[in-house]
Amino acid sequence: MAVRILSGKAIADQIKSEVAAEIADLHRKYGFTPCLVAVRVGEDPASEVYVSSKVKTAGEVGLISEHIHLPKDTSEAELARIVVELNTRGDVDGILVQLPLPKQINERRILELIDPVKDVDGFHPVNAGRLMQGYESLVPCTPAGVIEILKRSNIDIGGKHAVVVGRSNIVGKPMAMLLLHENATVTICHSRTRDLPAVTRQADILVAAIGRAGFIRGEHIGEGATVIDVGINNVSDKDEARSLFADEDIEKRLATIAKRGFTLVGDVNPREAVERAANFTPVPGGVGLLTVAMLMKNTVKAANLRRGK
Ligand code: NDP
Repeated sequence: MAVRILSGKAIADQIKSEVAAEIADLHRKYGFTPCLVAVRVGEDPASEVYVSSKVKTAGEVGLISEHIHLPKDTSEAELARIVVELNTRGDVDGILVQLPLPKQINERRILELIDPVKDVDGFHPVNAGRLMQGYESLVPCTPAGVIEILKRSNIDIGGKHAVVVGRSNIVGKPMAMLLLHENATVTICHSRTRDLPAVTRQADILVAAIGRAGFIRGEHIGEGATVIDVGINNVSDKDEARSLFADEDIEKRLATIAKRGFTLVGDVNPREAVERAANFTPVPGGVGLLTVAMLMKNTVKAANLRRGK
């Protein structure tokens, strides 16, 4: 059976155009435009790329956005002061503090300071708790994006066995909760799981959120499974790239390594996944695109919740 590649682009574009229409509608009906503020500390190059992409997309869908960039030696007290100020600003609907933060700042303390109704990343314990209990909440963007990919690709979730590899607060745990709320039977795996391939092979829907390039191999994938690759890893070694990509893709990947020094690879070995999966998300061009689109959707949701619309 030929594998279906679930491209994130069309789905992300669809969500962005729905969000843009909603923003225009809010302006027409109520005279306001939701505002997203991104806070970045230091010079982490990946964070710079992520925040620029978020601010650019905010502009494209018609949100008001601000980018606060602070020096790398910013103290926790100074960042806390800025977050508290954003909490009190009536015009600000969504606050996102880009991770990772420099070592002198305790990430958890900062994330817990963000007003839960403005917490568009959905990382605050209040939102995590509401998600667990099945109440309306701001849900982390990446797992929320995975659900959109599944639903908009007409892949049934109810009654299916979903296996999530990874148990982080940002991806694995909220992913498992969302799948559970969609009536999947959910198994969560992690670094202490015994005989991982035997567990993951049972999955109708396999979500990989591990942080290790090409870690999920053919032996982990049951015939006909839907495989969602959340991972984003840099691979710079040409031989490693050769082991990951099919003959028709490898030249392009090697050219990317030659040009940029690395190529983006997920947590699933794509060469082996396409041999066994029925549906598969590519990296890049899969889940990552949804994360940004869902951030826009969450900002509008936060504005609606806070302003009682
Ligand atoms: P974390 O490092 O926080 O969590 C990784 C998880 O993988 C842990 O729960 C860990 O288990 C598990 N794990 C590690 N090694 C193994 C192993 N050998 N076998 C089974 N499980 C293992 O990562 P994140 O959740 O933050 O991110 C996961 C991936 O998703 C990364 O590649 C990241 O770049 C990507 N990502 C992509 C996003 C997107 O927009 N597409 C957004 C966010 C993340 P344990 O708990 O036991 O240590």
